Amino acid sequence: MPDYDNDNIFAKIIRGELPAHKVFEDDNTLAFLDIMPRADGHALVIPKAPSRNVLDIEIADLCAVMATVQMIARAGLKAFQAQGAIIQQFNEAEGGQVVFHTHFHVIPRRAGVELKPPAAIKEDEAVLARNAERLRAALQD
Ligand code: AMP
Repeated sequence: MPDYDNDNIFAKIIRGELPAHKVFEDDNTLAFLDIMPRADGHALVIPKAPSRNVLDIEIADLCAVMATVQMIARAGLKAFQAQGAIIQQFNEAEGGQVVFHTHFHVIPRRAGVELKPPAAIKEDEAVLARNAERLRAALQD
């Protein structure tokens, strides 16, 4: 497996070198919206510590990420009147991974609303900003 690349997009978001619609942050994890969402509220949850994916992540970082995944999934149901959620994660290019910093997709699922195709349609910034606010508000409840 290749080494971790410090210049991947999500490492730059962690360092504040690239913008993101952040919805939650603690000492070990960060959650922000996917810019090409498959549904409203599609979020990515990442560890702040470097790792490529589940194959090389430290178990403590994985546990921290999963706690945040659960929190964001629950908030997604509230914020978007969803009945379910997809939690999705890819490992290495052969496993469908494109950005090589560990991340979990958290996608709220509403009855009767089709998923958009993966990483295909860039969402409007205003829509992303509004959806991030909805998720942040749901996290306060
Ligand atoms: P994958 O590695 O296959 O899980 O795909 C990477 C995901 O990151 C895709 O869903 C992209 O839409 C998303 N993505 C890529 N660049 C950014 C970015 N700058 N901010 C938020 N999401 C991104």
